[in-house]
Amino acid sequence: MTPARKPKSEASKLQFRIGYGWDSHEFQRGIPLKIGGVRLPHPKGLGGHSDGDVLLHALTDALLGAVAAPDIGSLFSPSNPKWKGADSAVFLKEALQRIRSAGYTIANVDSTLILAAPKIGPHASAIRANLAKLLSVSTDAVGVKAKTPEGMGTENAAIAHVVVLLEKKSSG
Ligand SMILES: [Zn+2]
Repeated sequence: MTPARKPKSEASKLQFRIGYGWDSHEFQRGIPLKIGGVRLPHPKGLGGHSDGDVLLHALTDALLGAVAAPDIGSLFSPSNPKWKGADSAVFLKEALQRIRSAGYTIANVDSTLILAAPKIGPHASAIRANLAKLLSVSTDAVGVKAKTPEGMGTENAAIAHVVVLLEKKSSG
């Protein structure tokens, strides 16, 4: 018989794990707009938690969710003044640390932004490149798409959906 070991949960043995994150923020005048860590020229920015980076928040939650970690709001309380105006890359770094210590690497990421303005198309490659850099993956592992909120009545908000696929690091 093999010696008794601390039991491992079945999920920790999975070769692949999926994660999903969603976020929304309201546009406000007079603050800078940052999406995916990229500063976009626009008269309004996104208010709320930290720098309001809706895409980085959804990405952070997708990564945290993939390893069943607490969500971004639990780890970084929006009511804590410490996070007011904070660079959302800080939250992403914590999520990356957690997936690494769980033994996973990122296979790929896909995202959809839903917002009336500004147009994301001209900035999509810069956003993809920045996400790839933040995640230490190649740009062909990062999808960034954008849609306008037809019939949703969310013209003054930016919404982001993100899915991630994690792959178990090879032990040898
Ligand atoms: Zn957020």
